[in-house]
Amino acid sequence: MEVIKKAAENAKLPLEVVSLKVKYPQGDEKQLLKAVTGREVPSGALPIEIGCVVSNVGTVHAVYEAVVLDKPLIERVVTVSGGALKNPQNLKVRIGTPISSLIEECGGFKEVPAKIVVGGPMMGFTIYDLDTPVTKGTSGILALTSREVNGAHRTACISCGRCIEACPMGLDPTNLFKYIDHSDYDSADSLGLMDCKECGSCGFVCLARIPLVQGMRLGKKMLRMKKVKS
Ligand code: SF4
Ligand code: SF4
Repeated sequence: MEVIKKAAENAKLPLEVVSLKVKYPQGDEKQLLKAVTGREVPSGALPIEIGCVVSNVGTVHAVYEAVVLDKPLIERVVTVSGGALKNPQNLKVRIGTPISSLIEECGGFKEVPAKIVVGGPMMGFTIYDLDTPVTKGTSGILALTSREVNGAHRTACISCGRCIEACPMGLDPTNLFKYIDHSDYDSADSLGLMDCKECGSCGFVCLARIPLVQGMRLGKKMLRMKKVKS
């Protein structure tokens, strides 16, 4: 933090460094804007509509390289981690590099991973082929052990309400999921499905291990397809 503040001072630009509480999903643009500016982005609106633009450091750096150095986006920093990996690291790699090469660079596996996830532990997706290439959106790769993967089986919803408490967007994940499960996407839309940030908080706290975030993703996809057709 002090290093960043010092760099901002030295840049002699109208910059302010603000530190926030460590909590998930603080990095989501709507949560970030509320925490930093106190302004709320209305449902279905974009940050620009409240006079803000949110860009992460990697994007700002890529814009600098493209505009000032005339360098296209050909590489990015990827966090390679997880208990199954020998030597976790942050690596700067060329886009298109197979994930197997990153794992090799980290010394390979110390045990057979139960799951390889691309992205973060909450929002990432499982891959089954280590030849999958790094793309401009690959922020992390996790090689998880069976101890790190919760293998509990799904049961029926017990109406505990934990998913509602956990949702940073104030949604009702349990009822959204029920509508999506019955292919009633219009009712899910009326409950605010499109405001879901796919942060995974609801699924993380669900004692019944219901794949809530996967349901939200599917529901949003189906709604988008429906809107394109109509
Ligand atoms: S994934 Fe779940 S917790 Fe996160 S915004 Fe969507 S419904 Fe809410
Ligand atoms: S957390 Fe899971 S079990 Fe509890 S209400 Fe939500 S969906 Fe149902």
